[in-house]
Amino acid sequence: MHFQRILNKNKLLSSGIKAQKFNFLQKFKERSLLGNFNSFRAGLTHLIYPDLCLHCKRALHQNHPFLCYACLSRIELVKWREKETHHLLQQSLNDPYLSFSVTLYRFEKGGAVQTILHELKYNNNREIGLYFGRLIGQEARSKLAGLPIDVLIPVPIHHRKRFDRGYNQSELLAIGISSCIDVPVKSNLLLKTRNTKSQTKVSREERSENTAGSFSVSEHIKEYTSIALVDDVITTGATAGSICKALRKKNKNLQITIFSLSIANRN
Ligand SMILES: [Zn+2]
Repeated sequence: MHFQRILNKNKLLSSGIKAQKFNFLQKFKERSLLGNFNSFRAGLTHLIYPDLCLHCKRALHQNHPFLCYACLSRIELVKWREKETHHLLQQSLNDPYLSFSVTLYRFEKGGAVQTILHELKYNNNREIGLYFGRLIGQEARSKLAGLPIDVLIPVPIHHRKRFDRGYNQSELLAIGISSCIDVPVKSNLLLKTRNTKSQTKVSREERSENTAGSFSVSEHIKEYTSIALVDDVITTGATAGSICKALRKKNKNLQITIFSLSIANRN
């Protein structure tokens, strides 16, 4: 009797396991069917509603995933004027020892670069950060020969802002850059300790004051000789300038490079 009960129990157990296996297989089939259906639907959607340019909303006809040819050609590429931009950065950061810089575009009010930055910061479009990060990385890779960089440090945002947004846009750019130049991203070397007002909401004169003392640098910064600071846009240079000062306070001879998606036009 007892033996029979054990047998029955075993049968039940094995049928339970079989049922579980069946459920798993069933779910797997459903998922792969769903996956096929989703990619089919995405293809169809793309055919009926082709992707639109983020800035002018016209259909995209070429390989660029975010901007149309007309908008792209209107963006001023800073990379053709490297020396001038680097000098401008040294001045606005008030840092004559800035080692090197890579900036892709000139930021203009109402222009396509502003749309990209808005999309990156407020529309949860993370892919755009990784994509433009890779563009900065490719540019850096072709120019970096002979300049070793130990780590990439994204310009931090306050933890409350990061929580609300879900990510730090400069960190996404840094991850994109990292995938091209094989330098690790370290987001814990530099923190923003004070939730300051947006730099766009304070006057030019108040900007240095607004950011001064709002960054905290880890003691681990002493382990590095050369870092690259990654930012989405350099406006007056007050933020990046305050960070350079804070970094060099802890590591006097630190070589600093700036990687930025854009720089504001100051004419
Ligand atoms: Zn366009």
